[in-house]
Amino acid sequence: MKALESHAKNMLKAAGLYCTRARLCVIMALLRENRPITQEQITQALDAPFDRVTIYRTLDSLGKADLVHRVFLEERACHYELSHHCSKTQCHPHFTCTQCGQTHCLTDLKLPLAHHHGYVIQRQQVRLAGLCPQCR
Ligand SMILES: [Zn+2]
Ligand SMILES: [Zn+2]
Ligand SMILES: [Zn+2]
Repeated sequence: MKALESHAKNMLKAAGLYCTRARLCVIMALLRENRPITQEQITQALDAPFDRVTIYRTLDSLGKADLVHRVFLEERACHYELSHHCSKTQCHPHFTCTQCGQTHCLTDLKLPLAHHHGYVIQRQQVRLAGLCPQCR
């Protein structure tokens, strides 16, 4: 718990953001989950209660500082994750299990698509679907 909190504090410090309780709680929730989750799921995973607007603004400020980014939309809900495994232009592939519905970050899979036949790739979002090891 303490290690997680100091890790979150260091991330805010490195990004030049003030360390507010809401920012800390959101980062800690995302660190614990370690996969893309919705604002709703973030709200449930927080150590302290915050209202909708505060969480929305917190995600917005963390997003502008590139600490957090939107990964994909599913059923009109935006899924967020920490950007520490991603660059500005490249996110790792995500695998969603068709059985249990869990999304996993495949951080060890690289997508080395810098340029492709004249296309300039500004953002890569790859989503895979199938059965996870537990459901296989
Ligand atoms: Zn990412
Ligand atoms: Zn599964
Ligand atoms: Zn991910």
